[in-house]
Amino acid sequence: MKIAVLAGDGIGPEIIAQAVRVLNALKTDGLNVELEHGLIGGCAVDATGDPYPEATHRLASHADAVLLGAVGGPQYDDLPRHQRPERGLLAIRKALNLFANLRPAILYPELANASSLKYDVVAGLDIMIVRELTGDIYFGEPRGIEMRDHQRVGFNTMIYSETEIRRIAHVAFKAAAKRQRKLCSVDKMNVLECTQLWRDIVIEVAKEYPDVTLSHMLVDNAAMQLVRNPKQFDVMVTGNMFGDILSDEASMLTGSIGMLPSASLDENNKGLYEPIHGSAPDISGKDIANPLATILSVAMMLRYTFNQEETAQRIEQAIQKVLAAGFRTRDISESGMTSVGTREMGDAVLSFL
Ligand code: NAD
Repeated sequence: MKIAVLAGDGIGPEIIAQAVRVLNALKTDGLNVELEHGLIGGCAVDATGDPYPEATHRLASHADAVLLGAVGGPQYDDLPRHQRPERGLLAIRKALNLFANLRPAILYPELANASSLKYDVVAGLDIMIVRELTGDIYFGEPRGIEMRDHQRVGFNTMIYSETEIRRIAHVAFKAAAKRQRKLCSVDKMNVLECTQLWRDIVIEVAKEYPDVTLSHMLVDNAAMQLVRNPKQFDVMVTGNMFGDILSDEASMLTGSIGMLPSASLDENNKGLYEPIHGSAPDISGKDIANPLATILSVAMMLRYTFNQEETAQRIEQAIQKVLAAGFRTRDISESGMTSVGTREMGDAVLSFL
């Protein structure tokens, strides 16, 4: 299992260091992993002038999976657009053809007070949003702003081919098959033809997954149901724009940005795994960042790219035990609990692992 490790900027190196300790511990236990490190984002601009240098591209292309920390920082805000750290992220997603974004929103009962919703509504929440990442109105042509009838008009094109819909639907059905076997497809078929096709194709693909129960929901209702009764969902699948919004909404239900991992997959389950948060420059270098989202990203990597379900669960259970034992980094701190820094949190995970 070849893993390219791209720590990036800000807290990236601190949180990645803890995830690497977990991987090395599993290696000692017989997991056949090989890690190689590379540069992405601001640190890559500093070293080479390019946020996604050729050497990183070679490393990522030859690896089976990529583990990424985070990119960005205020010192890079004035760079020209093509040199911004975030360009590095877009470039690697595009170069590796990562069309499927998987974002779990899990709220461990121990952390339910971190949510802005009532305890009963969110305690034990475990949903997965599958978002198509390379199509839709974000990439559709024609697009632009132009003069029509003496005034400016702005326009974009919402477009999906059946091939694009089919391949993301397969990812979502497979993810549901590994979970509670419930899939909700989100569209706006009452007004948008593009999403009528989405619904038709998802229904076709469903025939190949008789064990998964498929339902459909309009996006406005889905946004409402996510805050009203989020535990009704297991896996949700949707297009790029709706997924952008719903996945942020779902992750914020948990109230703990330092706890949520994500995966972006290609057609062969090669993937890029990263926490959903950014480089947190406000806390970088202080040993207070929460490394759990990054360690949970390793668990996702083992599950989705390497098919090592047992080892994935071993990591997740270790984290659950760490939380149950009362260890908390500052972002999830509560009175009466044991406050720990980034490295100590890594120690705690390793000891339960
Ligand atoms: P952010 O996610 O970095 O931080 C938001 C808030 O959450 C901050 O208060 C931060 O301290 C806190 N936080 C984030 N991760 C944490 C963790 N693991 N433990 C404890 N607290 C944590 O978002 P931002 O401040 O809007 O952006 C900072 C930089 O990160 C910007 O340059 C932005 O462009 C970049 N960014 C990168 C990614 C990515 O690499 N995928 C994603 C979002 C933002």
